[in-house]
Amino acid sequence: MILITGGAGYIGSHVTLKLLEESNQKIIVFDSLENGHISTVEKLKSVRDFDFVKGDLKNPNDLEVLFQNFDIDSVIHFAAYIRVEESVQNPRKYYSNNLVGTINLLNKMLDYSVKKIVFSSTAAVYGEPKYVPIDENHPKQPINPYGKTKFMVEEILDDYDKAYGLKSIRLRYFNVAGADSKNRIGESHDPETHLIPNILASAANSEKVFNLFGNDYATRDGTCVRDYVNIEDLASAHISALKYLDKENKSDCFNIGTKNGNTVKEVFGVCEKVTSKKIKIRVNPRRDGDPESLVADNTKAEKVLNWKSSMTLNDSVRTAYNWIKK
Ligand code: UDP
Repeated sequence: MILITGGAGYIGSHVTLKLLEESNQKIIVFDSLENGHISTVEKLKSVRDFDFVKGDLKNPNDLEVLFQNFDIDSVIHFAAYIRVEESVQNPRKYYSNNLVGTINLLNKMLDYSVKKIVFSSTAAVYGEPKYVPIDENHPKQPINPYGKTKFMVEEILDDYDKAYGLKSIRLRYFNVAGADSKNRIGESHDPETHLIPNILASAANSEKVFNLFGNDYATRDGTCVRDYVNIEDLASAHISALKYLDKENKSDCFNIGTKNGNTVKEVFGVCEKVTSKKIKIRVNPRRDGDPESLVADNTKAEKVLNWKSSMTLNDSVRTAYNWIKK
């Protein structure tokens, strides 16, 4: 049985959906529902039934009950807080949940001899890019508590492998975008801080101005470059990672991106085209902590995991817009 923590959230739910549809493995979703949605769980259950447990990683007893009651043999771990700015203002919240919560999970896995985990990591582990595209050997100097918690967990996973043989695949996501192509689930954050949902919210409401942060970067049009990977492609990367763990029983880390960067203005252009709407835009000063350019060198994932990003930015914007309209 596969335990999916944070399976009611944006990325976790899309991976759960893929596993429900493409495998016959038993699944248990564990989510505090603080940021995940029960409506998402219900939607997923209509695809194929699975177990759902509401609980919190910060509470070791919730984990004890979980591992006692279910026969878990691998874990995909998404549950985490994800807002960079908030992590700077309130690091305690991030270290308690993303770090201590994850240590609780790893220790419970050891107690029950569960030795396989796919961990949701991030390009934020690299910090300010020294070169682009970024490969997995790029220096790791995260510049905010969010990125630090993810990097610390990666370090702990190394130590737990050496000492206890716990095998992990860490997937370092770049910018994730889009929704289920059949429009059953999608992205719903409160507050929403991500680029594409914010542009599309302005497309859906003509009163709402889209705020662009910074047009004085040294890029082709002055706005930040990011690598937008489609959510369904990202979900496939987790399936590949699980297969790799089962077959090779080896720990490793992989960038998950597309090798292509788009500027904020280019993304805005795609959104206007896909929605056929003229969207109101206001240029603001730079947002704190935004690196100029982040693009993944994903060669390793292609070679070792046999994974490929196949959907386009257009696909991501189209599916995200369908979801927002719904
Ligand atoms: N961005 C923007 N307006 C928004 C949200 C984001 O101009 O309402 C810019 C942001 O400054 C960054 C890029 O879009 O350059 C991607 O930001 P996002 O928050 O989606 O992802 P991040 O790269 O910060 O993880």
